[in-house]
This record gives sequence, C-alpha cells and structure tokens, in this order.
Amino acid sequence: MTQAPKIGLVSLGCPKALVDSERIMTTLRAQGYAFSRDYAGADIVLVNTCGFLDSAKQESLEAIGEALAENGRVIVTGCLGVEEELIRKTHPSVLAVSGPHQYETVVNAVNAHLPPVPNKFVDLVPEAGLRLTPKHYAYLKISEGCNNRCSFCIIPQIRGDLSSRPMASVLYEAERLVASGVKEIMVISQDTSAYGVDLKYATSKYRGQDVSAKFQTLAEEMGKLDVWTRLHYVYPYPHVDSVIPLMAEGKILPYLDIPFQHASPTVLKAMRRPANQVKTLDRIKSWRDICPDLTIRSNFIVGFPGETEEDFDFLLDWVEEAEIDRAGCFKYEPVTGAPANDLDGVVLDEVKDERFARLMEVAQDVSTAQLAKKVGRTIEVLVDDVRPAEGRAIARSKWDAPDIDGQVIIDNAIGIKPGDKVSVVVTGSDEYDLFAEPVAVAAKQPALA
Ligand code: SF4
Repeated sequence: MTQAPKIGLVSLGCPKALVDSERIMTTLRAQGYAFSRDYAGADIVLVNTCGFLDSAKQESLEAIGEALAENGRVIVTGCLGVEEELIRKTHPSVLAVSGPHQYETVVNAVNAHLPPVPNKFVDLVPEAGLRLTPKHYAYLKISEGCNNRCSFCIIPQIRGDLSSRPMASVLYEAERLVASGVKEIMVISQDTSAYGVDLKYATSKYRGQDVSAKFQTLAEEMGKLDVWTRLHYVYPYPHVDSVIPLMAEGKILPYLDIPFQHASPTVLKAMRRPANQVKTLDRIKSWRDICPDLTIRSNFIVGFPGETEEDFDFLLDWVEEAEIDRAGCFKYEPVTGAPANDLDGVVLDEVKDERFARLMEVAQDVSTAQLAKKVGRTIEVLVDDVRPAEGRAIARSKWDAPDIDGQVIIDNAIGIKPGDKVSVVVTGSDEYDLFAEPVAVAAKQPALA
C-alpha cells in the first residue's frame, strides 16, 4: 500500500487559531494524509500563524524560518497570512500563503504541492474531528470575526465582521465532542456575548426543535449536556445577566472570562471598548449576589496611550473592588494598522514596566484572598495530569480554565487518571493554586482548622 503523505503542523496563537488548525487537520485527514510530530518525518510543513501583535508576527516569521531550515517545504496560513508580501519578502521560498479561516485555500495548497494518495481510506477521522487538546477537554468556536472596532486591535481587519454559526451546528458539534469523551467545553469566539447578532438570532433545527442563535439559548442548551461548559470572551452587555442563574444552578460553570482591558472611563473610551458602562462594578456585585461562586477572569492593558497615573490608580482600585479572581496583564504594544497608534500620550516603557508590576501585585493579592476562601470546601475537579512518583495529580476546578488559570494539586492521588472527575477536599491555597486531597483520604485525616 502506498504510504500516506505526511504533514507537519506548527500551530501558533490563540485558541481560535488552534480550532482553525484542528479543522484543517480534520479535512486533510479525511483526504488520507497522515501527520508527523517532527520536521524530519514530514513531507511538507504547515505553519498556522498569529498576527495580532507585532511580537506575535515576529514569532510567526521565526517559526516559518525554522520550518524552512528544518524541512524546506512550507505552507503558511492563519492571521499573518493577510500580510503575504511581508511573508514572501522575508521567506521567498514558502510554497503558498493563505489567511485566517481560509480552510479550502490551505487544503487546496496542500493538495497542489503534496497530492493525496489516490485510494482514500474510510473512517480515518474520528466523529468529533481531530483535536490538538487532550481527550477530556475541547474548544468550541461559535463564530468568526468581530463587529467591534477596539482602537488597539486589527482582528476585524484580519478576520472580518462577526459571522456566527447556526445554533444547531454548534450544538451538534458539542454533542459529538461529549460522545467522544470530552468532559469540558470551552466556548470561544472574538465576542461570545454578541453571538447570533449577525444572523438576527435566526432559528435552526436541532433535534426537531427550533433553536435560536442567541447567547442565552446557547448557555441553556449547553447546560443540558453532560459536560462542563466554560464561557470565554464575554463582554458585559445587559443580556449577560441572563446566564448568571444558569451558573448558580450548576448548568454551566460559574466562570466568566471578560477581557475588560481597563476600568478608567477615559481609557475605555479611547480604547473604544464594547459594553463600556460606568455601572459594571454594580453588575458584578449583583452577579455575585445571584451566584456567589462566580469566578471572573480578565485581561488588562497597562500603558495605553494617554493613560495617566489617575487612570491607572482607578484601575488598581477597580480590580480590588471587583475582586477579579484571575487577572492577566499586557503592556500596551502598538500593532501595525491599529488606530490607537495615532493617539497622543505615549507611555514610556519604564512607566509601563512599573505599572505592570504594580497591577500584577494587586492581582496576586486578590487571587490569594479569593482562593483562601475555598480552603475546607469539597469540590469536583477534572484531572489533567498524574505524577505517580510523587503520588500527585494535577487537576482544575470549575474556577480554572486550562493554560491560563491556576491548578488544583492533589496529594495522595492513588488510582486517579487524566480525564477523571474527582471529589476533593481543599486543604490549602497560595497565590494561584489550590491544594487538595481526595475525599476518601481527607476523611481519614483530623478535621481542618
Ligand atoms: S472585541 Fe475588540 S479586541 Fe476583541 S476582537 Fe473585537 S475589536 Fe478586537
């Protein structure tokens, strides 16, 4: 039998790019291609690039260079693909370039430069498609593009306006993921709370019922599946209030990833952020009244043009008052083509560094205090990894998304496997992580003080 042609894949960037890679892999696998984990075993290398920040562009160009040096036959796709001229100038020998979510173009380029074997195999693709995440969790992309026009961002220029998938298509994919053993689904997009706006909330048929392409319906329907559902990239529009009771009832995880980016009204206005409301603090408090377990993860940008010391102090106080459980921070970096580059009031690098350190210190204090409140509780966790030699398992709680949040470190973890859901008693906490023991082990210990 002729050997299947092998593709090496380098996937850079955010979870949305990862989902694009998974979709491309699934199509190629269905055409009979195989995949190689190293450059040497690949007949061709596909580099899925990121082009969000200038530093990410640089990283993508370096990854293309490495693939060319190690393998020589390289096809480029993804966000940086919109800058074909830059790619070809830096690396003239790349075989083909395509932009983000141009699945057909990239697959056609692979077909042209590395034709598939004539006899297609059947059932090469698992029903849930190919994934780059562990078996027990997956990302579910509900839309492409974005209708907002934040001044520091070029994603709408790269990925276009919001384009939502019909609700039925999203839900059937979620069902397939659950059937394949996935226990946690991360809902992603550029703006999850805007889901369906472009479709005018049109209905589609799901299991014989009309389901509307609405954020709330999405949360309700996901809540009926036997899976943890985590919502990412949500903006605090008024209708977000409607999913908080579902979190309180345990239908979806009590977790909201809201990239606030700042809190000062002046900076938010200059950033042109969506759902920018003065009353956000009150909203967060009312959410926590309904769902006390709610965890909020956010990102913030320090050193945005025009950010004054007062703006920054406002942000520090706000992070403390809002009790942002998980905060990430970026120092503002101009992105080629972003309108924010024309703003006055450039903040010096040393000031950015200093603000970054101060924000991270406050965020760490808030996180430490929030996690300390959980000590003594019995919680369910999802195991990501086991370390038999140490008798430990590394898991996550409903308050932790993979890669970006903390972990639950379980001691005396005997007979536990990755992908298991386990009940544990929280025995301690630090700045970012919780420490725990399985319930059966904790029951034999003296009661916690
Ligand atoms: S919401 Fe703003 S930052 Fe996010 S993708 Fe849209 S324009 Fe960019």
